[in-house]
Amino acid sequence: MTSTGMRTHQCGELRAEHIGQTVSLCGWVATRREHGEHLAFVDLRDHTGLTQCVVDNAVDVRPEYVIRVTGVVAARPAESANDRIATGAVEIQDCQVEILNTAEAPPFPINERADQVAEGTRLQYRYLDLRRERMQRNLRVRSAVNSAVRSAMEGQGFVEVETPMLVPSTPEGAREFIVPSRKEPGAFYALPQSPQLFKQLLMVAGVDRYFQIARCLRDEDLRADRQYEFMQLDAEMSFATQDDVLAAISKAVLDAAEVVTGERPAPIERITWHEAMNTYGSDKPDLRFGMNLTELTDAFASTGFKAFAGAACIKGINATGRAEEFGRNKLDAMTDRAKKIGAKGLVWLKVGGDGSLDSPVAKFLSDSEQAAVKERLGAKPGDLLLVVADTWMTTCEVLGQLRNDLGRPPVYEGPYRYVWVVDFPLFVSVDETTGRPRPGHHPFCHPKPEDLDRMETDPMSVRAQAYDLVLNGWELGSGSIRIHEPALQRRVFNLLGISDEDADRRFGFFLTPFRYGAPPHGGFAFGLDRLVAILAGEENIREVIAFPKTQSGSDPMTNAPTPVEPKQLNDLGIRVLPRSS
Ligand code: ASP
Repeated sequence: MTSTGMRTHQCGELRAEHIGQTVSLCGWVATRREHGEHLAFVDLRDHTGLTQCVVDNAVDVRPEYVIRVTGVVAARPAESANDRIATGAVEIQDCQVEILNTAEAPPFPINERADQVAEGTRLQYRYLDLRRERMQRNLRVRSAVNSAVRSAMEGQGFVEVETPMLVPSTPEGAREFIVPSRKEPGAFYALPQSPQLFKQLLMVAGVDRYFQIARCLRDEDLRADRQYEFMQLDAEMSFATQDDVLAAISKAVLDAAEVVTGERPAPIERITWHEAMNTYGSDKPDLRFGMNLTELTDAFASTGFKAFAGAACIKGINATGRAEEFGRNKLDAMTDRAKKIGAKGLVWLKVGGDGSLDSPVAKFLSDSEQAAVKERLGAKPGDLLLVVADTWMTTCEVLGQLRNDLGRPPVYEGPYRYVWVVDFPLFVSVDETTGRPRPGHHPFCHPKPEDLDRMETDPMSVRAQAYDLVLNGWELGSGSIRIHEPALQRRVFNLLGISDEDADRRFGFFLTPFRYGAPPHGGFAFGLDRLVAILAGEENIREVIAFPKTQSGSDPMTNAPTPVEPKQLNDLGIRVLPRSS
């Protein structure tokens, strides 16, 4: 299937059944070993694997030379058969070698040992890094995921539409990359954080079901699950309920997972945002392990312990069997971490062999309080119990982080646990300077109809028809049913402190179309890089992106970002200020 005018087979293809055939293979020299006086073994590599070729040792081939080998497939002598590689039963003998290209010695070996090479070096020579088996596999997992997602969407009647890369600045929450306009010095385009506004306009346009494997750009600090540029499956549908959107996206995600793992995951479960926070202390709960947050507030209703008295919410977790591991220094470090996250303090209690509680605060807790803590947390000797008392949100967040710190396996480790988190709050926090609520997601999410009458009086209690998809504790993506009624959109903008005039000035292009008959609609977008990384067994999305940026946002291969010529800046009407030190 992949034979060409230059090769009959690929380097991972030959088996015992090919013995006796004359074949031609093309690829890179992986290794060369001298064999006796006249011969050398050359392992020839392409992305499918390796084949051992027996060549005349007068032929000057070295690692990473590009060669074409023609010879006869033969059984390897039993003592040299290699059952660790798929082609290990055969070799090519009587090889004629054609050197297609020589190569300088590579800066690192093109095999798994390059995993230990500094990130900057791997990225500087990314084309060599990508030549390796692991990276080739990752690129192919990615391609399989893209293809499964595309056909799942097409199969459900979604139409692929491309949207522009040069867009106006939009209010989606992340910092944008901006691009100066040459025709209008002083004016700027933004690169899209997502196609959000355009996909909604496609609904106004009657497209009905849109999708796009879209590039999105956000100028945010890079980390394991974040790059400046990333790919999303972006989708939007008209006349659809939340259930419709979740079903359509679930199919795409599960089809992709099945293509890669060979197994159909179970249907995706659902929990509310409140339940996720309350039980796992996170809006991206990792369901692969327990250590759930346990309610203790009522057990301390009449406590004499000052730190707990009157606290709105007291909860605990049980790090089973971890008491011994946590000496004083580690406990102090964990307490500092809890404080950094926002707690006033952290109470730890170690369960002794006789079931007694060893803790600096044990003496302040009554017998019945101690008994309740032990009973509710299922404490056994050797367990480490951690308790936080604060507002509900802070208690949940702090214990949720500690739960992750203590129990979370690497993100790619099975079993894969997908979960829809639904009913996000419309607003997440209050801006301290303006006193205004901040949107939980973007300001186009439709509030739950039953919560609408509390929008002005109790905005923080209003839930949105907004949902996230989470896999193994990573947020894969988010979406919502959108506001399609102009009056409601203005109401939300007003609550956010965006006046009607401001809204018209900033998003007129988006709001005006809604006056011309916008259908009810909703959508979703999920990060393909994140899904691919988990399915490929990688902890960092960089490993599944062909040409990513380093942690500091640069590209050691192309040297981007680079200064530009003064003339280019002049044309754009831009003057660069000296760097402040
Ligand atoms: N545009 C949103 C995002 O990129 C997803 C959505 O609401 O559909 O997070």
